[in-house]
Amino acid sequence: MISIDEAIAIIKANIPTPVEEVLPLAQALGYYLAEDIQSPEPSPRYTNSAMDGIAARFADVEGATAESPALLTFIGESRAGAPFAGMVGAGEAVRISTGAMLAAGADTVIRMEDTRETENSVAVFAVRKKGQDVRRQGEEFAAGDLLLRRGTRIAAPQAGLLASVGIDQVTVFAPCTVALLVTGSELVAAGAAIKEYQIRDSNMIMLQAAVREAGGNLFSSRRIVDEKEATSAAIATAAADIILCTGGVSVGRHDHVKEAAEENGFVPLFWRVRQKPGKPLYCARKGKTLLFGLPGNPVSAFMCFAHYVRPVLYAVCGQPFGWPSVEAHASADLANRGNRTNMVRVRVSSRPGGYAVDSVEHQGSHMLTSLADANGYVILEPGQIVRAGEAITVYAYDFWQAPVTFADESLPPKA
Ligand code: AMP
Ligand code: MG
Repeated sequence: MISIDEAIAIIKANIPTPVEEVLPLAQALGYYLAEDIQSPEPSPRYTNSAMDGIAARFADVEGATAESPALLTFIGESRAGAPFAGMVGAGEAVRISTGAMLAAGADTVIRMEDTRETENSVAVFAVRKKGQDVRRQGEEFAAGDLLLRRGTRIAAPQAGLLASVGIDQVTVFAPCTVALLVTGSELVAAGAAIKEYQIRDSNMIMLQAAVREAGGNLFSSRRIVDEKEATSAAIATAAADIILCTGGVSVGRHDHVKEAAEENGFVPLFWRVRQKPGKPLYCARKGKTLLFGLPGNPVSAFMCFAHYVRPVLYAVCGQPFGWPSVEAHASADLANRGNRTNMVRVRVSSRPGGYAVDSVEHQGSHMLTSLADANGYVILEPGQIVRAGEAITVYAYDFWQAPVTFADESLPPKA
């Protein structure tokens, strides 16, 4: 048996090589950039108005007040999408809209509220300084400036920024592909008729969801019976970066995953980790494909996924290999009185001045409420006690389960 850290080090040394792909921007949302992006254009692209008002020469309006306004003659208009073609001379002005190109000759914008228009002329009552309310070409960034770094996630703001400089395709990391094999002759899908002695399959939908939440690309899911031939054939035909099996990795007579993997040319990297839950965890490799044999107990399967498989999915799709985590203070003592490293399911919540962490009830490896009530876990070594008030690292199940407090926590009303 090896330690958690040893298992992680082995996995880290065997991560499938990330693959890059070019995608239209609209299809790249949620992906991570595989390239640094330099802007092909300056921003703003051209000098324009920040306000609706008039554009004029500062020399003509300097010192204007309500008592002695500056009077200018209109010679045209610059609208967003329809610039003024002429030149603003002494004593002249053009009407201008927000975002419209600043007319040649003009250097200052006077907002509507500081003017009064007649048919052909305009009175200006106030002006602060030369160049006011003008957005200069390149004042945000120049052409060639670095906009987004490799590894940045393309969410709504990044997509908007890229579109604003004319970029409509990007090179991103392809998500890690996963083939899921759920073993167990006793398993029945939710919704199907079930006999007294059968077990409902919770791992399939749970791991499908977990793969998606971690940014993986689920290629296939299959449920197979506990027979070596069936297991071996399923592994032989599963084509993906990661083959994710559950069940059948213990020492029982009907546990066939390890043997079936090795029959198919997989070389074992490790079997069994000194941890609770999840001791029977198995990992093997064939070429670029990693095979994980997660234990069948649903809590063990999920915890092994969260701690060992998830960082690989992150790394392949361009994120750091690791776990989203926070430091939190124990609300009550947390202790590991056993002789294996314990992954304890916890609830972390934000409190004034930091985060609090509470253990959840029913920690048995067959008890899914301990997962559903938790949003993360802590790792406690044998004999370790974290006293109430002491800080400990909490690993969050995923980024979106982070302990954020919303200003309004009310749920939508019942229909
Ligand atoms: P195994 O690791 O195959 O020996 O399974 C350990 C325990 O987990 C047994 O009680 C199984 O019935 C249960 N189990 C295995 N796979 C699943 C699954 N997909 N959903 C729910 N329980 C499972
Ligand atoms: Mg089984």
